Amino acid sequence: MAKTASQKPVTEPTNLPPKFYIFPWLQNAWGQITQTRNEKRLHHAYLISGLPGLGKLDLAYHIAHSLLCTKPDPHTGYPCGQCRGCHLFQVGNHPDIQRLGPDPESKSGEIKVEAARNLVDFNELTSQSGGYKVIIIAPADGMNRYSANSLLKTLEEPTPFTIILLVTTQPGRLLATIRSRCQHLPIAVPPEPEALAWLTAQVRVPPDQLQLALRLAHGAPLTALKFNHDILQQRQTNVRMFFEFTAGKHSPSSIATQWIQQDLAQLIDWLSTWIADIARFQTGSPVYLDNPDLATYLHTQSTKYSSVTIHKFWSKVLNTRQHLQTNLNPQLLIETLLIQWRDLQS
Ligand SMILES: [Zn+2]
Repeated sequence: MAKTASQKPVTEPTNLPPKFYIFPWLQNAWGQITQTRNEKRLHHAYLISGLPGLGKLDLAYHIAHSLLCTKPDPHTGYPCGQCRGCHLFQVGNHPDIQRLGPDPESKSGEIKVEAARNLVDFNELTSQSGGYKVIIIAPADGMNRYSANSLLKTLEEPTPFTIILLVTTQPGRLLATIRSRCQHLPIAVPPEPEALAWLTAQVRVPPDQLQLALRLAHGAPLTALKFNHDILQQRQTNVRMFFEFTAGKHSPSSIATQWIQQDLAQLIDWLSTWIADIARFQTGSPVYLDNPDLATYLHTQSTKYSSVTIHKFWSKVLNTRQHLQTNLNPQLLIETLLIQWRDLQS
């Protein structure tokens, strides 16, 4: 009997799109979206929030890819990797997805109203492929008052089959009226043992160093991966420089000059963890430290300052961290912080 087309051997589908991988700690969020989609109850806007280094933007793009695929796997939600939607998405040319972000030339990192207006137009168009349209706004906290108001109109009058994904590390900075119109998809840091197991499979680094990197990343595995030996070495230099400052070894301007050449946001974050660990030592024997490798050093430091000084300085550090996002002169910002630290002890 002649073989019909249907009797031809079928190759197992090994056509998952390249790089299509959902991080283990994002599986819950992914499953939630897939299930809601299968039940045809997708919300028109999702607010994906969480610490940096958790792959939130990655998740948004994966959701977009799945929505733009015409034959996603009904159980896993994974895109087929073969349809026209998948192809256009993979080459970055799908007409039914728009990304809204700050102008790369912009120093303020703000999303301008002109860009948001383009979205309104995109929202009103019908999908070119007859399926979903996806809008990714990242970082959503980059919207200023005008662009946020412009987006609000889109959120208030959603067009069917348009899904808006807002990605942010700081959901509190979004207008309350925007937040209230989104379904929240908070991404939590994975439990430390799970994160360590994942990291161990990615890099050949001794376990204690991986744990340190993870602690310094506040539990965010992708941030932990970025902390190489040089960065950790630089941190050691900085912590000593900071605590030697009050002994008169360095001037505010010399420290500031060195610090602004580094990743300042990272440095201020680390400074906040040194202060937090000192506060922990002052209230007892801490079971958790952000800086386990500096335990002895920070314990010694904790005996040199009053808890009032530490708490007052803590709020100054947080204040400086907020100001880093403005256009204030960073050199001046660091010098001011150091002078405040010195004044608190006099
Ligand atoms: Zn597909």
